[in-house]
Amino acid sequence: VGHDRPWSRVMLKLSGEVFGGGQFGVDPDVVQAIAVQIADVVRQGLQVAVVVGGGNYFRGAELQQRGMDRARSDYMGMLGTVMNCLALQDFLEKQGIDTRVQTAINMAQVAEPYIPRRAMRHLEKGRVVIFGAGAGMPYFTTDTVAAQRALEIGADVLLKATQVDGVYDDDPKKNPAAVRFDRISYNEVLTRGLGVADAAAISLCMENDLPLVVFDLLVPGNIARAVRGDRIGTLVTT
Ligand code: UDP
Repeated sequence: VGHDRPWSRVMLKLSGEVFGGGQFGVDPDVVQAIAVQIADVVRQGLQVAVVVGGGNYFRGAELQQRGMDRARSDYMGMLGTVMNCLALQDFLEKQGIDTRVQTAINMAQVAEPYIPRRAMRHLEKGRVVIFGAGAGMPYFTTDTVAAQRALEIGADVLLKATQVDGVYDDDPKKNPAAVRFDRISYNEVLTRGLGVADAAAISLCMENDLPLVVFDLLVPGNIARAVRGDRIGTLVTT
């Protein structure tokens, strides 16, 4: 992928699906492996903020299709992300990394409220800040929240770590001839309707020149590689 200026503060978006190892709930082995990767880059001096998805629990749109009220099921989706945050917090602390969870829905017993300036202070002190409960608003996705939080806390890049190793011109699971891009523009992602992240997230990145790297989370060391700017995954820029 390659980038010319060093990144010192990164926003890492972790898909919920990965946390579940393809099942409902959390797979502790997977979360532990992710925590090891994150601890590694924190020890190298990088400031890391994380937004965790919740697809391993509930997706509002899916529950809606099965007859539930959309807003209520979206809240269930957001609450699911918080369980992922706590699991990640636990394994990061076992690695000796200080963490704070901040949620967009207040739940004082388990997390701080989302306070951006406080989040930045935590990052400066070397703590990993894990953002949960999405935006606290139905009809949003955690991708959009990751872009918004990245901008608000001054992250240099949005690293979207998922189960796919980059952006393809077609769904690589369905079409074996699909081709992966090393680099692609925001505009092309939007006009081709590529399923990298939702359009709201891509638009936020585009309007604010926030680079986005999409890469496979489950290859050990990939977070460190993405942070270094090694040629992994796909870089989405202007
Ligand atoms: N969600 C929401 N508002 C937000 C973020 C998430 O309503 O700001 C809900 C939505 O129902 C979504 C679910 O939480 O389907 C899980 O988040 P997402 O699908 O983004 O998780 P991922 O696909 O990254 O695992």
